[in-house]
Parts: sequence; structure tokens; C-alpha cells
Amino acid sequence: MNELKTIRAVGAVAGIARGYLHFLRRDLQKELESYRQQDPPLELQRFYYARGVAAARTDRLVEKLREGHQEGQAAILETRGLILSDPGLGSLVSEKIQASGLSAPAAVLQSCEEMAGPILELEDAYLRERALDIQNAGIQIAEILLGIQETELKTPAILFGEEIDPSLIIGLSQETAGLIIGSASMTSHAVILARSRGTPTLVGITDLREQIPDNTPVILDGGEGLLIANPDERTIQSYQAKMEEQQREEQEYRRLASVPARTKDGFRVTLAANIGYPEELEQAQRYGYEGVGLYRTEFLFLGKGSFPTEEEQFQAYRRVIERCENRRCIIRTMDIGGDKQLPCLEIPPERNPFLGWRAIRISLKRTDLFQTQIRAILRAGVYGKAAIMLPMISGLEELRQAKRLISQAVHSLEQDDIPFAEDMEVGMMIETPAAAVLAGQFAEECDFFSIGTNDLTQYTLAVDRGNPLISQLYSYFHPAVLRLIRHVVEQAHSRGKWVGMCGEMAGDPAAARLLCSWGIDELSMSLPRIPLVKQAVLACETDRRWADAVLSLSDAKQAEAYLKAQTE
Ligand code: PEP
Ligand code: MG
Repeated sequence: MNELKTIRAVGAVAGIARGYLHFLRRDLQKELESYRQQDPPLELQRFYYARGVAAARTDRLVEKLREGHQEGQAAILETRGLILSDPGLGSLVSEKIQASGLSAPAAVLQSCEEMAGPILELEDAYLRERALDIQNAGIQIAEILLGIQETELKTPAILFGEEIDPSLIIGLSQETAGLIIGSASMTSHAVILARSRGTPTLVGITDLREQIPDNTPVILDGGEGLLIANPDERTIQSYQAKMEEQQREEQEYRRLASVPARTKDGFRVTLAANIGYPEELEQAQRYGYEGVGLYRTEFLFLGKGSFPTEEEQFQAYRRVIERCENRRCIIRTMDIGGDKQLPCLEIPPERNPFLGWRAIRISLKRTDLFQTQIRAILRAGVYGKAAIMLPMISGLEELRQAKRLISQAVHSLEQDDIPFAEDMEVGMMIETPAAAVLAGQFAEECDFFSIGTNDLTQYTLAVDRGNPLISQLYSYFHPAVLRLIRHVVEQAHSRGKWVGMCGEMAGDPAAARLLCSWGIDELSMSLPRIPLVKQAVLACETDRRWADAVLSLSDAKQAEAYLKAQTE
């Protein structure tokens, strides 16, 4: 019964946690069986009452979060408020109680399932998460109706839920050491919140209740994607050492947060964050981020059945800009198409979606959408230091056209007498070989570059970045990619423009010395990479000749080995 057992899962947030397993939510089905159902008018009344309680609890939590300046988390919970007050939900539940004779909790669970059902069928993982939000709202009301309260926690606790409500993660105390979320995806709100709190998290185990009982002592290894139940003394000892190492690392990262990223010979590089959601910035200071080098706004679009309005976009951008305080915040205009499809925008089937109608190409055709977004960014810019960045530019005419549209948005705001940030920097991503080769000409006409190595690598090497069959060919250390990068930095600097990088390469410590030696101004990466890259920057000395020598190597493997050998 108490035997050691190792269960494989997917590591969503790295880190090790030790504690007692606690299953969230008892089986609602069982509770439903013992529910004392009344006649339909009373059931309906109960439903409205429970919905009111759920809404009031949500409002209180939103308020508390706002007071604590946790705007992003508050916004997530506000979505819950919208679901709870949806008149469609009210009428569906009422119909089920009155016409089908269901109890209030059964009716609300069924109604939310029906509302979520078609969304769950969609391929897009982000949209499926929104369906879970609807289901969670239903569960919240049903639990109130069924009088369910969580059982006592044995602490430190490792919580398990088939899904975990984001509001629960927001309210977690220090006593929760880890999370296991059965069916969450990497882009789920729950995982994002866990990541920003630094709570080790696993996803992808759905049948845990059948495998081990509640309160089992466990070790959760978020880096390796493992759950170890009933660990024996040897396992505990080996994990104890890892946990101590983890604590030392965290202390070191906290210390590093306030240390400027400067090489031994004094070259200073800015280390910024790539984000997709405003709430990711809530714990950003502990990584010592110096700004947002890439805000991927498309996540705002992916989560909606219709395009977000100017006001909705304005609020989201404002939240991010305010959070950055006076750090620069680079907002990338929507980068949809390719692998990011929107249900509200019909993109005809394409043979090569990555070479197709995507990013700036959509913005220049759907100028209505682009104008709305630009107006929202310009308005939000009043609240801090923002910049606009254009994705996937391959020709000068695209840049010029986009800038004309930006000027039009400026005029329209002037005419409407709406305040906006004047003289906002407008930069572009270098993601296509065409833009890299012509960097000198582009640099004359924009304020900055950010090198998107994820796409630049796939287009330069003609290797689909998402195809596992050819992943061995995909490397940003390929000398052809490196030559383009050096050329872009040189061309930008020769025209007095700054240049950053926001592809995955920016977060690779093995690339730090090379990029600093070529004089890159900013490296932007996911938050947890910042301390690692900073360590590499602090430990190195720039050397232009050493850096240039990599360009004469014949392939990516050799280049990578060369860089690693002299960096370590
Ligand atoms: C890139 O292409 O390097 C980039 C940062 O953009 P994305 O990964 O969003 O395509
Ligand atoms: Mg890209």
C-alpha cells in the first residue's frame, strides 16, 4: 500500500516540491446523488442565490487583487464574473430545471458542459482553456449548492485537480508546495499563474485518484516531469540535496536580480522579458527584468470568438505598460496566421501557412483591425514607455505602408481629441532573410530592430520550426544564421539604431558571449531564463575576433561546440 511508485507526467513549471497529496473537490457526482431536490421554482431560486454568492465571492477576490496591484490576476477572475452573469447561462439553467425537472446543481453543471462543449472541440489549445473557464464557473455554483467545502489540508500540500480553477491558484498560501493539473495545457491560465508564482507544477496525469490515495506523501519534480509517491529514505535524501541546491540557486537569482548585466570588460546588455499575458509580469521583478522586449499580443486575439475592441485592447496594453513602470515595453502587433489560427478570421486553406497570409501581411490587408490595434497601443502608451513592433516584414513597402497606417491612427486620435503617446518608437522584427540582408535600408526607416531567431532560422535554413522529422537541421548556431545576425547588428549600429533579439537564441547562455561581442543592445527571453543568461554575461569577456571566427566554421554543430567550449 505504501510502496514507492514513480508516475510520469509533463513538467509544466520546473522545481522540486515535497509534501502530501491533496485531491481537490470530491466527486461531484456522488454529492449530487445525496442532494435533496425541491420543486422547480425553489430549485430555480436556489440557483440564482448560489450564482449571486459565486459572483460576490469573485468580486471580492478581484477587489482584493486590485488592492494588491495584481491587475493581471484580477483580469483573469473578471472573466469568471462575466461567465457568471451571462444571461444565456441563466436561461439554459432555468429551462433545464423547469422543462426537464433537473435539480439546480445538475442543471448548472449540464448547462455549462453544453456551453463549453463546442469550444472544447476546437483545435486551439488556448480556446479550449476558455471552455474550461466556463466549466469551472459551473462547478463553483454547483459546489455552493451542494454545500461542498474543501477538507483539511495536511501541509505542505501538493494539490491535484483534473482541472484547477485559476482563482484557487491566485489565493494559494505558502503551504501549497506544488500543483498537479490533470488536463491543463502549457498555455492554460492555471499553468501561467503557477509559473509566475514559481510553484512547481505537473500536467497530464488524469487518473491519479485511481493510482494513489489522498494524503500520500509525495515528491514532485517539475523539471523532470515526475511524481514519486511514498518515497523511500534514499529517494528523499537525493531529493533533499536537490532541494537545497534549488534554494541556493533561488537565493543567487534574487541577488542577481539587482546586478546589471555587464561583461567583465564592461559591455552592458539589457535583459528583457518575452510575455504573452499581462499577469506574467507579476513576479517579474524577482528575475530582474529590465523591460518587455516582446509582448505577443496575439494571445489576446486567440482567446476570443470575436476581435477584441479598441477599449479591450487598450485596457490590456495599459495593464502591461503600467506594470513595466518606466521600463520600455515593446508591443508586437498581431502575429496571427501560420500556426496561430483565429476562429473569427477566415484564412483560406494554405499549402504553406508559414509562407502564407500571416502577421503584417494580414494587418496590411485588414487595415481596420490594424488601425484598431494601433490606436489602442498609442492610447495605452500614455501610461509608460511603450514601443510598436511589426512582425514578419520582408519588404520595404510593407514597412512604409504600416508606418502610413500608424500616422493615420495618430491623426484619427488627434481628431477625436483622445490622449495618446506622441513619438512612440516604431521598430520591426528581423525574421525573414530578406529583412536581414537589407537591414541597412530598413534601419534608415525605423527606430529599432529585434531579431526573431525562431522564424529567421526556419526561413534561412528552409527548415520548418515545428517539424520533428527535421528538427536536427534546425539550429540558430548555423553559420548562415549567425552571419545574418552579425550583419543586422552592424547595419543597425552604422545607422545609429539599436538592435535587440527576442527569439529563443536570446535566452540561450551559450549564445550570450557571441552576441555581446557583436554588440547586441538587448536580449529578450522568457522570465526564468534571465538569471541564467545574466550569469553567462557576467562571466564572460567580449572578443570580436573570437566571435567572428565562428563564421568560418562549416556547420551548426561545430559552431555550437566552438561557442560552448570557450564560454564554459
Ligand atoms: C521569432 O520568430 O523569433 C519570434 C520571437 O516570434 P514568434 O516566436 O512569436 O514567431
Ligand atoms: Mg516569429
